[in-house]
Amino acid sequence: MRQGWDPIRGCVLAMAVVGALAMGCSAPRPTGYTRFPETLPPPTESPTSATIASQAPTEPRPPVVAVPEPPPPRPAEPAAQVPQTPPDDREPWTPIAAWCRSRGLPSPELQAGSRAVKIGGITHYLGFEPVDQGGAVCIHPLDRIKTFEPLLQAPTWPEPRTVILDPGHGGSQAGTRCLTGNRFEKDFTLDWALRLKPLLEARGWTVHLTRTNDLDLSLTDRVLAAETLQAGLFISLHFNSAFPNTQARGLETYCLTPCGMASTTTRVYADDLSATHPNNRHDAANLVLARRIHRHLLAATGTADRGIRRARFMDVLRGQNRPAVLIEGGFLSNPDESRAINTPAYRQRLAEGVARALE
Ligand SMILES: [Zn+2]
Repeated sequence: MRQGWDPIRGCVLAMAVVGALAMGCSAPRPTGYTRFPETLPPPTESPTSATIASQAPTEPRPPVVAVPEPPPPRPAEPAAQVPQTPPDDREPWTPIAAWCRSRGLPSPELQAGSRAVKIGGITHYLGFEPVDQGGAVCIHPLDRIKTFEPLLQAPTWPEPRTVILDPGHGGSQAGTRCLTGNRFEKDFTLDWALRLKPLLEARGWTVHLTRTNDLDLSLTDRVLAAETLQAGLFISLHFNSAFPNTQARGLETYCLTPCGMASTTTRVYADDLSATHPNNRHDAANLVLARRIHRHLLAATGTADRGIRRARFMDVLRGQNRPAVLIEGGFLSNPDESRAINTPAYRQRLAEGVARALE
């Protein structure tokens, strides 16, 4: 079950703060949040690509690829004309076990009052708490439409197969600090992307990166890079932190919250259920992509399943005109997990997990 701490702290929260500032959002800044251990001294030298390469003698990194052309002036963001499926209290809630059974889906593991549900062994989070009606656990119509109906879809890839990988943070935005070793999230995310690129190319994808070196890059420019390159998919790579909690571990995969539904976590940020964003056009494809990646990453790493989650405060996702997900590949605040992430072998497994999801 859930732990008693805010599950979205770490870099997700840091991104939200950055994004809120960048967008002039009035969302309150969280209190009591520690970005990374303050007791650790600042790094004397930011790890470089060469540093990472030197730590992986048996697993040479792929060559650095060309940085995308500097983006042109940002075009006007298209209006969010998203076909909506507003909650309709007149529509009956769905007895979900029977609904799944009639469609050949595995019986979900859920209970009234808890938004966590396991579908085919993978954890998802609903927008509304299920209720017990006549002995059957029933879910809100939007949860049926936005979480269960997409599972009936076969994954379809963009044509041509183009994807942009977004190594989180960079430059002065170091991200969270690794509990073991004086290294930062920004280096691990870049290494993950550089390992993933050739694996996807071998599977027929054209792969771009939002950054290929230790570069400061705004969230707006990451979205713009995907737009400029007309990428078919957007995948943002991050690592998590719950410091000073050192027990939290596992994988989280995020996509944008559909209109009308509650996000997975709303503890700190106002969660406007009526908000619509350009990326809401891809609600179903977002979830299908998130589920595939999440499932394959769990298989590749054997780490804990912290669920496919939804949030609407991530600027790097909500402006995307393509299916888009953000992966939190593990907790740098957990001793065991940070030690694993600090090894090239584990990051290679992370890369192979995502690659297999896009086969
Ligand atoms: Zn991050």
